[in-house]
Amino acid sequence: MKRTGVFYHDVCGKEAYSSLAMGVEDGFLAIRKEGLFGYPNVKWYESRQATEPEIARIHTRDWIEEVKQTRWWRCSLYSVGGLLQATETLLSGEIDNALVIAGVGGHHAHRDSAWGGCYFSVTGLGIPHAREKFGVKRFAIVDTDTHHADGVRDIFKDDDDVLHICFCYDYGWDYPGGSLTSNKTKHCFAHGASDEEEIENVRRYVPSLVREFRPEMIYWICGMDTHRDSYGTRALSEDCYPRLAEIIKATAEDVCGGRLIVKTCCNAPPHATAYALPRIVDLLAELGRYPRGR
Ligand SMILES: [Zn+2]
Ligand SMILES: [Zn+2]
Repeated sequence: MKRTGVFYHDVCGKEAYSSLAMGVEDGFLAIRKEGLFGYPNVKWYESRQATEPEIARIHTRDWIEEVKQTRWWRCSLYSVGGLLQATETLLSGEIDNALVIAGVGGHHAHRDSAWGGCYFSVTGLGIPHAREKFGVKRFAIVDTDTHHADGVRDIFKDDDDVLHICFCYDYGWDYPGGSLTSNKTKHCFAHGASDEEEIENVRRYVPSLVREFRPEMIYWICGMDTHRDSYGTRALSEDCYPRLAEIIKATAEDVCGGRLIVKTCCNAPPHATAYALPRIVDLLAELGRYPRGR
């Protein structure tokens, strides 16, 4: 069994970005209700706030001041803080893997701007943090949200120690420069139109690219707007997310000692997040209490 941390603060559930965060609180509560925190190897960590110097490792002072004026400031601090805390807790050896439940997105955040329910690069900020505090150098970010991760791509476009595998479908928007960089460490692939197709796509690209790159840890941005009742590809059932988790976790076991942090902002309705999140935790912690498939 693995030691799994779940990082969540009530502010992320209660003050989540309105249009996308339909199932943040329900996702967390389902993990608790199903009794997963009763296992000795599964622990809830109440997310801390990120500090401004931590955010300033990527974002400009002007942008930080601008976000401070919005109603998403507090939720952003706890969302980034949860990701940083998960990174610290994992790299200090206290846990093997983690699920971070955020109240805002992050992958559309650039250094000095953002859109689409994103303010700061929630996952991206984990990288300078891990480098500075733990000397970890190489990272893989796998992103299965519907939309192109223009912010993450832009921030790490010149960083060959960051493998970015983005599943996306829309290049139609006008992105700032660097958002569409494509090279041997920066990839975009199409989404599937069904659970089976999505799983097939992830299985085709993720294990082989990650194995070849050999990161020291993996971040998975598990966007859930691909769910059939959400606003993205509307292609997947809730059962697809734990199945994707299985592939990505197996890759982490194979390549980097299982070091995997899953970040989600739960951008799908409560029935979907309440089904998927306990099963993702079950998989991460190797509890084996849910039968596979429905
Ligand atoms: Zn999205
Ligand atoms: Zn992409």
